[in-house]
Amino acid sequence: MTDSLEKNMQLEIHQRALGIVERYKRVEAELLDILQQADEYRVYYLFECKNLHEYAMNILKLSESVAFNFIAVARKAKEVPELKSIIESGALSVSKARKITPVLNSSNQKEWLQMAVQLPQRKLEQCVAKACPKQAVPERMKFVSEDRLNLQLGISESLSRKLKRAQDLESQKKRKSVSLEETLDVLLDLYLKEQDPVQKSERLKNRKNLSVARQVILRDKGQCTFIHKNGDRCKDQRWIDTHHVIPKNLGGSNSLENLVTLCSGHHKLMHAH
Ligand SMILES: [Zn+2]
Ligand SMILES: [Zn+2]
Repeated sequence: MTDSLEKNMQLEIHQRALGIVERYKRVEAELLDILQQADEYRVYYLFECKNLHEYAMNILKLSESVAFNFIAVARKAKEVPELKSIIESGALSVSKARKITPVLNSSNQKEWLQMAVQLPQRKLEQCVAKACPKQAVPERMKFVSEDRLNLQLGISESLSRKLKRAQDLESQKKRKSVSLEETLDVLLDLYLKEQDPVQKSERLKNRKNLSVARQVILRDKGQCTFIHKNGDRCKDQRWIDTHHVIPKNLGGSNSLENLVTLCSGHHKLMHAH
């Protein structure tokens, strides 16, 4: 191949790349728009998904991080419509827009959008971290082997002092240096023994007059009882509600058989159906 032929080929590939990037940006803006609509009209209920995240990952088959980024930006764009216009114009990508969602609001949108467009990603991340230090270390729990996880989180100085104090006391008590992991284990056991309704109910389970609420907790183990189409039970143990299978206004009672534990997402889903 002669030099000029090769150069023509390179230029042609470059032109095609530009065209594809153009389309890619348009598709990003379209995906953002349709997710906003899916959110507004709760399209996810159609597929028994409790929220947009579940729909985006399980039905649309988007990867977790893409779903997470697009939904965060789509929701922020409801509050700050300028965000959507700037993405539609092609000047800002969704992944970069995601970086400013923790700090962006309608009163500061002008400066943040300008920074997002102009600054390189790393610099932008630094500015966000400065404006919003709590966001600087994202909380993360990640498997590093079959049964070990890596926990990452940012903590305040006062929390670090409390942790150190507990670690010192525990070391003193055990007459050896204990790790932060062992310290956390002791602290959490103490907390859960006091505060976990499942553990409390377990301790009381042999009492004759155990309340129905406690019986529901014991039976469902404080976990949502919704069964997904693939047969898996919902794993949520947070934002838990007690739902009447037969609604009270249709004569449903407060009996154990008529009460089930649901997470708030599946609870809303039940009532929407
Ligand atoms: Zn209900
Ligand atoms: Zn659930």
